[in-house]
Amino acid sequence: ILNVNNLGKIYTSGSKKLTVLQDITFDVEEGETFSIVGPSGSGKTTLLGICAGLDQPDSGTVTLCGTELGSLNEDERAILRNRNIGFVFQDFQLLPTLTALENVAIPLELRGDKNAMKNGMELLDKVGLQNRFHHYPSQLSGGEQQRVALARAFSNNPSILFADEPTGNLDAETGEKVIQLLFQLNADAGTTLVIVTHDLELAAKTKHILRLKGGRIIANQETTAL
Ligand code: ATP
Repeated sequence: ILNVNNLGKIYTSGSKKLTVLQDITFDVEEGETFSIVGPSGSGKTTLLGICAGLDQPDSGTVTLCGTELGSLNEDERAILRNRNIGFVFQDFQLLPTLTALENVAIPLELRGDKNAMKNGMELLDKVGLQNRFHHYPSQLSGGEQQRVALARAFSNNPSILFADEPTGNLDAETGEKVIQLLFQLNADAGTTLVIVTHDLELAAKTKHILRLKGGRIIANQETTAL
């Protein structure tokens, strides 16, 4: 479902060039659970953003759901994202002026869903937030906000979900609940999961682990073989 081939990324600030990703090649199979681990600054978030079509590489290719992202313009990439991809950010990125329900339902409405409110409620129900529909993000705990973000990310029934440190800002118990939800989604709907994490326990639960260091792959392993 995802093929990354010889990918490189360079950030330029002023006259300085910083190579953040180099020679990155790997595949993620449909329905798989896949984690990307590595020290801070090793390029994990940058890689995830490029794979999800949110950012562009300087070299190499990314093929997502059968389409080479480099062949698409900005609008076409946005359509592909809307149709096939879910994204969960470490800092949730909920809109602060919208309630939990509106955060989930408004993107549905924008996609033309006539039953956006009802479907939004069902999604929030699924993540255990049936009694938090009308709370604003500031009135929710970190774990609850992350669950709203997850409900929003599943709302387009994505074939692949990218999650950047989905448990990074959560306590152990709440993090565990979020992880269960992610794996439940994988088991129930076959959604491919690609997770960037510092949490090695979480990584060990995925089928595949990609290790980055200094912008390069240092290992690409099936966890069953570890
Ligand atoms: P962490 O685990 O700390 O989140 P990471 O492995 O996700 O780190 P990235 O966020 O991908 O690492 O960053 C990789 C490198 O690229 C870092 O050295 C960072 O400072 C640099 N970097 C990231 N974004 C930019 C940017 N927009 N402009 C310039 N440099 C950047």
